[in-house]
Amino acid sequence: MDAMSKTIRVRIAPSPTGSVHLGLCRTALFNWAYARRFGGQFVLRIEDTDHDRNTQVSEQAILAALDWLGLDYDEGPGKGGPFAPYRQSERVARHLEMAQALLASGHAYRDFSTPEALDAWRAEQEARKQRVAYRGSDRDLDPEVSRRRAEAGEPFATRFRIPAGETRFEDLIRGQVTIPHEEIDDWVMVRRGGEAPTYNFVVVCDDLDMQITHVFRGEEHLVNTPKQLLVYAACGKPEPAFAHLPLMLGTDRKKLSKRTGDTSLPDYQAKGYPKEAIFNFLALQGWSLDGETDVFDRAKFVEHFDIRDVSKAGAVFDPAKFLWMAGEYLRRETVEELAQHVAPFAIEAQLMTAEAIEARRPWFLRVVASVQDRMSLYSDFPAWVAHFFQPDDAIVYDEKAEKGARKREGRAEILLAFAEALEAGRLGHTAADMAGATKAWLEDRGAKLADLFQPLRLALTGMGGGPDLFETIELLSTPSSLARIRAGAARLA
Ligand code: GLU
Repeated sequence: MDAMSKTIRVRIAPSPTGSVHLGLCRTALFNWAYARRFGGQFVLRIEDTDHDRNTQVSEQAILAALDWLGLDYDEGPGKGGPFAPYRQSERVARHLEMAQALLASGHAYRDFSTPEALDAWRAEQEARKQRVAYRGSDRDLDPEVSRRRAEAGEPFATRFRIPAGETRFEDLIRGQVTIPHEEIDDWVMVRRGGEAPTYNFVVVCDDLDMQITHVFRGEEHLVNTPKQLLVYAACGKPEPAFAHLPLMLGTDRKKLSKRTGDTSLPDYQAKGYPKEAIFNFLALQGWSLDGETDVFDRAKFVEHFDIRDVSKAGAVFDPAKFLWMAGEYLRRETVEELAQHVAPFAIEAQLMTAEAIEARRPWFLRVVASVQDRMSLYSDFPAWVAHFFQPDDAIVYDEKAEKGARKREGRAEILLAFAEALEAGRLGHTAADMAGATKAWLEDRGAKLADLFQPLRLALTGMGGGPDLFETIELLSTPSSLARIRAGAARLA
């Protein structure tokens, strides 16, 4: 099939089980970008056939994740489309009808083997230590006999009849892939009992019915693709193009898992990673713009993305780089944007209420601006500004910072003298004035900058480092600053 001659239709087909994994987000991102770049459609289908493990909650979480990431789909649950329904569990009648058709054409057969017989076969395989693909003993049963036994109520599984030979296909990322059929079991299409079709079968039914032209999914599905290709052939239908995205690996080069860090989107949302940083970082998991540019926006991604440029080597997910990228994006935000993003963290840390933020908005914006350069994540905000909300006479001192400040000779005296000059208005009132005047003041006293700054920062903020001190004084107000400085002089004496 010449895929390019038709409208491109890609899809993601997540199973709503558990939390939304970053791997799913990356798969969604690549499918979405491909559709957007080449004027195609991006379909969402929920593969909820494994009833026990599916929850309404995780389906909602998938929809919310796509929405949050800005990966709008053209057809899917809640949105509808020409191939509805988009929930696999609502399509089972159609799957069973297709299974019937494959039984009738001989591409599938009824396997009446009991679970005990199958267990015995498996045990025998293990004992022999040599894996031979399963070929059911009922494979060559006379079709008429098979039909009569089924009609008499004998339970059976519907299995795909793997033909002799091999399957070859051109993976858009990996190139030519060849799988000898002797490695593939006559796999179960519909489980014993008759009502429960399996993934490898229904995925083809649905992709066919939904006219999917390109299937891009994780490398873990590479083993499934030959089975699925054989179903397309059995149905006499052209197959879509396939590409298998490289595994996302941890820095230990093992499959990304909880063991080495967070793997789900909500984990990163909760930590306050900027959305665009998550988007950009996921885009780099197996793809690159030009081999060197790490930071690019979604428009650039869509403009340049092609599945054929995805690398087949595993994509290493480096948390340190992710954190760096978060900071890059956080610093590009306007103060208003950043204030909106950090406000929930300030509220959660009980530093301010939403109403207080609103009432003191100009002040809040300045506080946010003062620490913008210091943060990588929105969740860093409370730690940088907590001191603004502590009582002036009980600022929480960082242990190391306090040790450092205590090493300064004359620390209490210089703090008191500085407080006096500040109170008398001799240092001016704006941050810029204070910076200049304090320098001159220190020169007059023959003191070094650090002699004052180290104890002063500790007294005002409790920290060893942070934003501009004069800006802090302005934001605290002079009376509050004076109270802190004097309390600091007493504590450090
Ligand atoms: N339900 C499968 C999964 O979540 C879909 C795989 C596919 O895209 O075919 O991995």
